[in-house]
Amino acid sequence: MKKLIFVNLSFVLVLSWASAQQKSSTTAPSIIFLIGDGMGISQISAGHYLGGENSVFSIFDKIGLIRTHSKTNKVTDSAAASTAFATGQKTYNRAIGVDIDSNKVANLVEVLKTYSYSTGLVSISSITHGTPAGFYAHVKDRDAQEDIAQQLTKSGVDYFSGGGLKFFNQRADKIDLIKDLKANNYYVDTVQDYSLKLAKNKKYGFLLAEDGMSMVAEERKDFLANSLRQGLQYLTDKNAPFFVMAEGSYIDWAGHRKDPEMMLNEQWDFEKAVKVAIEYVDKHPNTLLIVTGDHETGGVSVQKGKTIEEVIVTFSGDQHTAVMLPVFAYGPHAEKFTGMYENTDIFHKILSVVKGKKK
Ligand SMILES: [Zn+2]
Repeated sequence: MKKLIFVNLSFVLVLSWASAQQKSSTTAPSIIFLIGDGMGISQISAGHYLGGENSVFSIFDKIGLIRTHSKTNKVTDSAAASTAFATGQKTYNRAIGVDIDSNKVANLVEVLKTYSYSTGLVSISSITHGTPAGFYAHVKDRDAQEDIAQQLTKSGVDYFSGGGLKFFNQRADKIDLIKDLKANNYYVDTVQDYSLKLAKNKKYGFLLAEDGMSMVAEERKDFLANSLRQGLQYLTDKNAPFFVMAEGSYIDWAGHRKDPEMMLNEQWDFEKAVKVAIEYVDKHPNTLLIVTGDHETGGVSVQKGKTIEEVIVTFSGDQHTAVMLPVFAYGPHAEKFTGMYENTDIFHKILSVVKGKKK
């Protein structure tokens, strides 16, 4: 009990200290953070060699490497990795927004709110799934998706788009969270018209599938790129700096299935979102783009084929691996993301950018 009180206090202290720093946020850049779930350098390489054109990653010249292990395992899961990015703390696998002792830790959505940032989240899987959840929720186990959904309704996230409808409207406790979202100024829909101009004084929640979205990239029709583009437009219209996280979720699932065709399709689908983000930064120079993965999945390698052009994608397993992952950065302060560091440093580097401090 004593311990819990202490940790809650430090949580409050972090937030109030952050509020005191608000003055310097006038020129703070907006931040786009793209996560390829399960995307290591082999997935990027395969996408490059089999893509038939220049890799979208060739534009980046500020590149780093992160160590992805969690507090308890050399091999992380998406929940601990997301918590590392979003809170700056290594924790146990399956943890969402809590530390090794299951105490709540402030996440980026909460901290950046104190700097007057707007926030957006986009995911192909359920918006309550491990990766997106780490940015706004605090639960001891990632499977508590109904709790995570409830926390999203109160999180203040301005724009979210993904799957997970059933965690909002078919719940064990019978609470209708769609109603709660609407009461909290959200426009909620189960379809998304990407051509629609979104009103800057509303919040938006798009829940486009019962759970995760279709695993076939073609059926989703560029959902990730389109939803990111619409979210970026909406957040830009709000005339305040923003943070948006978008996740290509199924590069990971392809690794678990050891399915090279799915892996490539999901990799390329993710790269379309990277392209949208690069184009955005080119038009809005006070925007920092960071692209990385949470862990590699499948122990993928790219081996020689029968001809000089041919390459063969192989999997050494069907689980996550501990390999270091590349971090690509583009825009103001991109140089802060070079070097070799921990996944938790992404959080600290983002905060240093927001606070306008040198490394
Ligand atoms: Zn996985």
